[in-house]
Amino acid sequence: MKITFLGAAHQVTGSKTLIEWMDNHYCLVDYGMEQGENDFVMADLPIAASSVEYVFLTHAHIDHSGMLPLLYKQGFRGKIYATAETTNLCSIMLADSAHIQETDASNETKKNLRHSGTVVEPLYTMNDAAATMEFFRPCAYGEMIMVDEGLTARFTDAGHLLGSAFLELFLEDGGESRTLVCSGDVGNPNQPIIQNPQAVSEADYVLIESTYGTRLHETTASPIPVLTDVLRRTFSRGGSVIIPSFAVGRTQELLYFFREIKQQHLLPEFESFPVYVDSPLANEATAVFLQCDPVCLDQKTRDIMMSGQNPIWFDGLNTTVSSDESKALNADTTPKVIISSGGMCEGGRIRHHLKHNIWDSRNTILFAGYQANGTLGRIIFDGAETVKIFGEQIDVKAEIALLAGISGHADRDGLLQFLSGFERKPSLVFVNHGDDDSTTGFARTVTETFGIPAQAPYSGSEFDLLKGEWIRITDPVYKEKTKTQNADPAARKKKESAFTELREAVQALDRYTATLSGHSNHELKKLADIIRALISDQD
Ligand SMILES: [Zn+2]
Repeated sequence: MKITFLGAAHQVTGSKTLIEWMDNHYCLVDYGMEQGENDFVMADLPIAASSVEYVFLTHAHIDHSGMLPLLYKQGFRGKIYATAETTNLCSIMLADSAHIQETDASNETKKNLRHSGTVVEPLYTMNDAAATMEFFRPCAYGEMIMVDEGLTARFTDAGHLLGSAFLELFLEDGGESRTLVCSGDVGNPNQPIIQNPQAVSEADYVLIESTYGTRLHETTASPIPVLTDVLRRTFSRGGSVIIPSFAVGRTQELLYFFREIKQQHLLPEFESFPVYVDSPLANEATAVFLQCDPVCLDQKTRDIMMSGQNPIWFDGLNTTVSSDESKALNADTTPKVIISSGGMCEGGRIRHHLKHNIWDSRNTILFAGYQANGTLGRIIFDGAETVKIFGEQIDVKAEIALLAGISGHADRDGLLQFLSGFERKPSLVFVNHGDDDSTTGFARTVTETFGIPAQAPYSGSEFDLLKGEWIRITDPVYKEKTKTQNADPAARKKKESAFTELREAVQALDRYTATLSGHSNHELKKLADIIRALISDQD
C-alpha cells in the first residue's frame, strides 16, 4: 500500500497523486494541469495510463482535472469518481480546455508554416474531452462508494467550488486497513452560495493543500460595500466597470453580489445598471449552478430560493453575448459592468474589453482574484503606465481597483480548523499544493499546533502506508528555465532587488487604501496610524 506524490509538490498547480492499494492495483487522486510559472519538474506517471483503474476527482478546477483527457488519450479506460456537480462542471471545463489546446496548436502550426512547416498537435482534442466524460461516475456527498476489493471511498463537501470534496479513501491490504484523507482544495467559509467546508473525523494519513499555508486573509468583511463604492464612483464619472474574472465560481459569486446590491437598493441613483457576462464558459457554468442539488448550497442561498428568487439572477443581467454583441458592447457608451474571462487577462475576450476601456480615465478595471506573476493582470495591477494588448501599446488611465476579501481557499487558520476537526488525529500529515515556502512553513505549523509529524514531499517521493515509512525521498528538480534565470546575474539582480519590491509594496498599499473609502472612520484612522507609525519607526 503506497502513495506516490506526483504533482502540486511544492507548487500550487498540477495536482496528481498515485495510490497503490494492493499489489499492482492503482488509482489516482486528481489529474490536474500545471498552470503559470513553476520552479520544479513534476515526476511523470510511473505506470502506463491503461494500468490506472480509478481516478477520484476532488473538484473541477483545471489544475485538478485538466489532464484527464490526456490520460484517456494515453489509454486510461477506468472509472472516474466525482460528485455530480463536479461531473457537470467538468463536462464544460474539459471541453473548454480542449478547445484552448486545439486553438493554440492550430495557431502555432500557422506560425510554423512560415518557416519550418512543423505541425503542432494539441495536447488533447475536443473528442478526447468528450470521450473522457463517458468514464465519470457521479456520486453524492456522504455516499460510501464500494469501488473494488480493498477500496472504498467517500466525498464530503469541501466548500471550495460547487461540487468540491474532501476525499476519504478506506484502503485494505492483507487484512490491514488504512484511511487516507485528501483535502483537494479547502474552501473559505466566507464564500457565498456554496456550503462551508464540512468536518472529516478520522484518518491515519492526511494529504492537505497549503495555498495560504503561511498567510491569513486580509479581511473577512463582506466585499459588497467596496463593490458598491466602485460602481458608484465609476458610474458617477460616466464610466464602466470591467472585471476580469474566472468563469467558474468567481463569476457566479459576483452575480450574487450584484443581485444583493440591486435587491437591497444599495445604489439607488444607478439602480438599473446593466451587467454583461461576456464569457460562454461562465454562462454555461451559471446554468450548472442554477441546476445544482440544493444540498450544495448554503442556508442563505437556499432561503433566497425558497422565497421564489434566483440568487444569481437579476434585472439587467445579460448572459447571451455573441462574438458580435461582445464587440458592440464597447461601442455603447452606457455605464455598465462587463464581467469577462480570463481571470488573469491572459486570454479570452477580456483582452478586447481592456483594449477598448483601459485608456479611458472614467472606467475602472476591477480585479476580483489572484493575479499570478508574469500575467497581464499582474502587470496592470502592479501599476504599469502602458500595456501591450494585441500588439498595440495602450495607456493605462482607468482606475485600477481590487475587490479584497474574496477567495475560494481557506487561509492558514482555516486549514488548521480543518485539521482540528479530526477526532482521531492522523499519524502523519503530508502537505502539498502550495509554493515552496507555504508547504514547508505549513508543515512546521501543523507539527507545532497539533504535535503531529508533517512533511512536504517533493515530486516522485513514495511512502509505504502500511509500514508507515518512506520508500523513496526525492530531491527537488529545478526547471531549466529557473536555472538559467538564476545563472543570469542581471536577472538575479532584478529578481532580488529589494528596493523594487519595496516600491511595489508601496504601490500595492496605495491601491489597497483606494478601495477603502466606504469603511468606518475608526478603521480608516487605525490604518492611517499604523502607516504613520511605520514611517516614524524608520526615522
Ligand atoms: Zn481549486
